[in-house]
Amino acid sequence: MTSDYLHRLAQLRTDANRSRWTETTSFRAPHKPFLLLSVMDIAAQGELTSPFIEPSFDLIERFARYWDLVNPPSSKCNMAYPFFYMRSEGFWRLIPKPGKENDVHESVTSSITRLKTVVMGADIDSELYQLISNHKTREQLRAVILRTYFAPEIRQKLLLEASENQEAFEYSQKLLKAAEKTMSYGEPEKPGRIRDQGFRKAVITLYAHRCTLCGIRMLTPEGHTIVEAAHIRPWSDTNDDRPANGMALCRLCHWSFDRGFMSLSRQYEVLISPLSRQEQNNPGPIMTLDHRPIFRPSDERHIPDQECLGWHRKEIFRK
Ligand SMILES: [Zn+2]
Repeated sequence: MTSDYLHRLAQLRTDANRSRWTETTSFRAPHKPFLLLSVMDIAAQGELTSPFIEPSFDLIERFARYWDLVNPPSSKCNMAYPFFYMRSEGFWRLIPKPGKENDVHESVTSSITRLKTVVMGADIDSELYQLISNHKTREQLRAVILRTYFAPEIRQKLLLEASENQEAFEYSQKLLKAAEKTMSYGEPEKPGRIRDQGFRKAVITLYAHRCTLCGIRMLTPEGHTIVEAAHIRPWSDTNDDRPANGMALCRLCHWSFDRGFMSLSRQYEVLISPLSRQEQNNPGPIMTLDHRPIFRPSDERHIPDQECLGWHRKEIFRK
């Protein structure tokens, strides 16, 4: 049974154009292989609970990470393309949104935003779903994709990307479960790359990509977000990766918080340093945030820790 899909995934219809695609991707367009690898990663996280694939932000982000490993930064990463054309493989059926049945055609591949206005997601064959859900068969399918569509030197990179993502995901789950503990939490022996990614996943999920201080939320269709996961007390001082020692912050607020121009009050209000408008400064919209309530995480157990905030007000904030 597995061998049928091993065979089918090795026979994907992809654009074979030697002038456009290099040896790295076996002279073929890597879109479909990357989409399938991304679906496998979501399944490995235990987050594929039915044979229905959603063009979720998580999936788009996985796809973008694979894409960026292989393609030059200038190349356009568009998951709508394989999400639509995978339907020619026979195991992937697009499910239109109600009333949009007649709009499912090639024009939806122009962007993910366009795709999402017309398509809810895709149903995959239940047999393929079983194979992807099972660790052993999933890794067999992954190996076939890597072997068929990528040069040997890049396979290892792609495999590492998948395993680091999985490790980071498991770390983020641990961090979220550590909510009840009052002690510091972190695993200093873990490679920094994995810790950072895990901490980021936990914090950004809790704040749903919204900046804790200003409330801005901006995502690109290519899977990039305006927020970063910021530590309140730096990791290097505390080895504290608890989400309560973190916040999702946009780049402006992150920089301002780390430089002491912004902080949080005991009542979870934004504080703006009076020094923000000194001399050459023009803080602009930041001033309107003074004493506004913060945007809280979806789970109150992870709300910023008062001890960490007290440290920040005392040591970093410019009063
Ligand atoms: Zn912000």
